[in-house]
Amino acid sequence: MEHVSNKHRVELSSDITRAIDMQPKSPKCVYCGAPHGTTQDHVPPKSFFPTPKPSNLITVPACWSCNAGSAKDEDLFLATFMFTEAGVTDTGKKLWDQKLHRMYKKNIGLRKLIASSLKKIELTTLAGIYLGRRLAIKPDKIRSERVVNKIVRGLYYHEFKEPLSPSVEIVSHFLQRPSEISYVEKFAPMLLFGSRKWPGVFEYRFNRVVDQPKGSMWVIRFFGKIVFWAVSSPFCSIKS
Ligand SMILES: [Zn+2]
Repeated sequence: MEHVSNKHRVELSSDITRAIDMQPKSPKCVYCGAPHGTTQDHVPPKSFFPTPKPSNLITVPACWSCNAGSAKDEDLFLATFMFTEAGVTDTGKKLWDQKLHRMYKKNIGLRKLIASSLKKIELTTLAGIYLGRRLAIKPDKIRSERVVNKIVRGLYYHEFKEPLSPSVEIVSHFLQRPSEISYVEKFAPMLLFGSRKWPGVFEYRFNRVVDQPKGSMWVIRFFGKIVFWAVSSPFCSIKS
């Protein structure tokens, strides 16, 4: 019978502890804080870029479910905004030709959602000149904001190298009217902490509050046309 002395046991167990400590720990998911952020999630989603994709895309550690869980919202986001002026940009045309037209053709549910979002609107210029009635798309507010909020959480981690606690709420808003965009542009001097740009696809400017670093603000532009404004606020915690 093999005899293991107590001294040997102690050495063995400290060897095991050391080996466990030396194992690389997987980072936490930047979205939900789960301990296994074992996948690399693209921010914004990789599908927003036509091919060939740039080599400098942002990725953040995410758990599997946060990484894959928003794919349907992201598909709807893309398809919706292809029915706006973003769809006739170079990027929009490439995305539609390379991928979106197939997805749109195959996905009956998505087609129905888009059809129900198309509304006739009265169009007037900023000077009040009536241009007539046109078909325009009304994006699904909750689902499009969910896509943007996730992007902001990912960007926050990327820029500040620390996750935004899942309890800190992010509020975003699609700026549909030129007057809303010009109003938000007045805050541009406050957004000078940094900016990044993948021309024609995605760009953002941001800053955060000096004495309340969880408070941050973001202006994000998709496809050169679609502008969202977002803030994270430690004072509007999500109630679980
Ligand atoms: Zn997660």
